[in-house]
Amino acid sequence: MNWQELSEQQQTVARVLSHAMQREELAHAYLMEGPKGTGKRQTALLVAQTLFCTAPTEKKPCLECRNCRRIASGNHPDVIWVAPEEGAASIKKEQISYLMKEFSYRSVESSHKVFIVEQAEKMTAQAENSLLKFIEEPHPGTLALLVTEHLHQLLDTIISRCQVLSFIPLSDQVVEKRLIQDGLPKQLVKLAAALTHDYQEGSLLCQEAWFADARSQVLQLVQRLFKSSDSALPYVYEKFTPNFDNNQKMAVGLDLLLLWFRDLLSLHLNRQEEIVYEDQIDGLKEQMLSLTSNQVIRAMSSILDARRQLDAHVNGVSVMERLVIKLGGYFK
Ligand SMILES: [Zn+2]
Repeated sequence: MNWQELSEQQQTVARVLSHAMQREELAHAYLMEGPKGTGKRQTALLVAQTLFCTAPTEKKPCLECRNCRRIASGNHPDVIWVAPEEGAASIKKEQISYLMKEFSYRSVESSHKVFIVEQAEKMTAQAENSLLKFIEEPHPGTLALLVTEHLHQLLDTIISRCQVLSFIPLSDQVVEKRLIQDGLPKQLVKLAAALTHDYQEGSLLCQEAWFADARSQVLQLVQRLFKSSDSALPYVYEKFTPNFDNNQKMAVGLDLLLLWFRDLLSLHLNRQEEIVYEDQIDGLKEQMLSLTSNQVIRAMSSILDARRQLDAHVNGVSVMERLVIKLGGYFK
């Protein structure tokens, strides 16, 4: 991530940090909090790179020099990462003590030292207390970056001594843009972003062959429902349910189906820019003419009912069976 991307994704955080860095007035400790997939870890990395880069342009790191690369790979001696050890549920006091010891030495290569605590909420109470001492009496030139998805599991005394930076969920547009930059197919990207609102999850979904199949099967199903609901049910038994062979996959299938009807509603409401099945616009328009917006809303609420039954562990095939019969009724 670079500063430009950070300011597109997290405008406030980018503003606070870049302002402080330009004026060389960084706080001693920042607490980066917010949901998964919002760029907290990459931001911590970017701050460290900005401090250590040997070839910056206007105080922005090059991301290519030896220091930038060593920080990205976790191999810079003055940038120390702490996280729960593999398989462990917590960050132990010993890990923080080790950190304190490291920081009591002069920095190895420069006047700065940065430590980054990931999943900071997983520190034990003792670990938090020793960290607290450190934050209260910081060594000059040291910077603490704590990263957490669960702010309120941290001690209030820690929170109050850090400058809190709140990361907000990425907009679907930002998630889409990043996935498209990664070279993932646009027709899947739109759906994945609408389903997950999360860059990492969206990326995984787009790379699964199963997801591309799921999309085309949902499209087949809505076409059959539209043409003749009699052929929809056999299709569900023979093709659809075998591909959605567990409730988790079936839930994704229902969400994809829901998005189709949401697109129909967007058309009714003249909000064409919100359509996710962009390449299916002709088919959507054709169906929109034969369904009133009320029917579309009722179809959507039937799909949501089916989704709830699935969450309550009702068998996926019978959920789908009932749903298709209901939806067939709206198309008549
Ligand atoms: Zn650099």
